[in-house]
Amino acid sequence: MFFERLVLATGNQGKYREFAALLPRSLVGELVFAPELSKLSVDETGATYTENALLKARAWASASGLPSLADDSGLEVAALDGAPGVHSARAVPGDDGARNAWLLSELGNREDRSARFVAALALVIPGGKEFICEGECPGRIAGAPSGAGGFGYDPLFLPDGFDASFADIPPETKNAISHRAAAVRALLKIFEQDSE
Ligand code: IMP
Repeated sequence: MFFERLVLATGNQGKYREFAALLPRSLVGELVFAPELSKLSVDETGATYTENALLKARAWASASGLPSLADDSGLEVAALDGAPGVHSARAVPGDDGARNAWLLSELGNREDRSARFVAALALVIPGGKEFICEGECPGRIAGAPSGAGGFGYDPLFLPDGFDASFADIPPETKNAISHRAAAVRALLKIFEQDSE
């Protein structure tokens, strides 16, 4: 499988940067970032990451006429029964800083700070096949934000095996261990099997 041009179904620069680094050149010639298409404002009404990823990938594929890759992702905090989960982007109004402040106040000084990031990918070929897969990254929530890199909840997320947040560690390190990296590995495996 090779996609000469693949549109990434997102207006999120942080996701684009990561996918541009994660997708091998043997799979994608040009990864197209078309933030103007985010005015498609797909209602993310699915109950699962996978359903939402499919809604986004189908909408962007039909609007652009290109094969489209969508990511729907979120942070699941055990002590909050998996919240914010599929609602991660909209947990509270405002920016990433507001959502990080909300998460810290919800968690208070609870002992169990375990959490995981989950990413579902959907790749849709206009009028053709659809592929779906998932990846996850386990970790815990820090007591305070740290680091200037990444996006979203990165300053609060300490991946397993690290005492530094996703926003503290170099992007190459995040891209080796993240939920998105695991999902991309799963996608490559699907394509290997699909071509057998
Ligand atoms: P989506 O665009 O609907 O998939 O929303 C995903 C949301 O989950 C983002 O807006 C972030 O708040 C959060 N999220 C997903 N992946 C990451 C990540 O790698 N780092 C930090 N936050 C993330």
